[in-house]
Amino acid sequence: MVIKPTFQSTKLGKIGGSEMIMSHGDRLLKWYPEKQVQCPLCEECPDSHEHLFFECPYSTLIWQDMKKRIKKDEWSDKWKEILFDISEMPCNNNIMSIMRRLVLAACVYYIWTERNKRIFSNEKKDYKEVLKDIISNIRFKMASLTVKDSNMVNEVYKQWKSP
Ligand SMILES: [Zn+2]
Repeated sequence: MVIKPTFQSTKLGKIGGSEMIMSHGDRLLKWYPEKQVQCPLCEECPDSHEHLFFECPYSTLIWQDMKKRIKKDEWSDKWKEILFDISEMPCNNNIMSIMRRLVLAACVYYIWTERNKRIFSNEKKDYKEVLKDIISNIRFKMASLTVKDSNMVNEVYKQWKSP
């Protein structure tokens, strides 16, 4: 089953274009509304897509750190609002635009992976370890970017080099 955001997301490029697949918890709830599946990350709240990105206390810690790094502290922790905010911003080759998309994609990928590892392999990582994985993934992607030398680019690269 596939769900799509209800608003225009044409500016989102790859992230917006990707359709979100309903989580295991969301699907189970649809068929068995009386069964609440627990979020494997916080082990406190019902598991759902909305909860995972990024209302879950575990995911929120990662998202808060990432929002600071892209200077978007004011962004919401709610998936639909985040998608709306990002869709309202320019989607181009500007370094800030690239960083916003890299950060969101990496957060989604690594949090989803951590969730699945906990369910299927019983492996657990602290949020700080997942954060480290996200940062090194983004650094790796930045290293492969071809960028023009500018004050903004230098500032962004300097910031991401620091721990
Ligand atoms: Zn949770």
